[in-house]
Amino acid sequence: MHFSSDLPEALELRAPAKINLFLAVTGRRADGYHDLFTLMCAISLFDRLTLRFGGRGIRVFCDHPAVPEDDTNLVHRAASRFFERLGDPRGVDVHIDKQIPVAAGLGGGSSDAAAVLGGLNRVFGRPFAPGILQRMALAVGADVPFFLSAKPALATGIGECLEPVADLVPYHVLTVCPDLKVSTAEVYKNLNLGLTKCEKKLKQLHLKTERFDALYFLCNDLETVTIRKFPQINEIKKALLGLGAAGALMSGSGPTVFGLFADAAGAGKALGRLSRRREWNVHLAEMLL
Ligand code: ATP
Repeated sequence: MHFSSDLPEALELRAPAKINLFLAVTGRRADGYHDLFTLMCAISLFDRLTLRFGGRGIRVFCDHPAVPEDDTNLVHRAASRFFERLGDPRGVDVHIDKQIPVAAGLGGGSSDAAAVLGGLNRVFGRPFAPGILQRMALAVGADVPFFLSAKPALATGIGECLEPVADLVPYHVLTVCPDLKVSTAEVYKNLNLGLTKCEKKLKQLHLKTERFDALYFLCNDLETVTIRKFPQINEIKKALLGLGAAGALMSGSGPTVFGLFADAAGAGKALGRLSRRREWNVHLAEMLL
């Protein structure tokens, strides 16, 4: 393979957060993973990544205390796969400016990894076709393929089978992340599949025939499990609805709750009110459609 030698000195990337507008757990697989049926939408809350070239090996820098800088960082895993498959001895330094709350159900680590895969592929002259990049992304994590395009999508399987969803009704999104440690593995362990209810609700879904308004289908099977341990999540939902949100739901395995607002003024007012709670990390964002 021929390698381009004229790499830029640095590349700036933005990696968006996502919310799950609905999330149904449809089964448990033999390999321990769960089958999902979820509508994912990226929002305009971004980590900022700076890639620097010129050295050898992969180094990750992030001053957020909960983000590892070693080879367990998803960015490190993504870059390693890329360079290994490319057979190129060069490397990259990645600086992550963490804006997306960590371990919050907003997909920050997966998004960082996808941004790096996409960015490296562009800089190196697109050596990998989209299908190969998708497979590399999936090997890093189930949510990573979604972030390669970050376009609204229905995800099935463990989250890797993606079907684009055009024409989502837009809302202003207020995310509220309480200072709680939620373990995704523990949430799935405590999930009773006999009690899940979202799949039934989603049976009436007609995604292709009309402009899709997710408001009527907000549902997350993991929410009841996380709320059982952390009732504060219900408190946040109530606060959002009390401040005029048209709907509110926990994202992923939590603990972030998002509220959907039809008008910007209402969302702005709610942002002001909720930001007074010091233990809540609040952001106002737009759906990226
Ligand atoms: P998941 O539900 O997969 O745990 P999440 O969206 O809730 O994802 P992330 O912010 O992606 O949460 O972080 C999950 C864990 O992954 C963190 O506890 C952190 O230790 C680890 N991690 C590895 N790489 C990163 C990264 N680039 N950014 C954030 N966390 C990372």
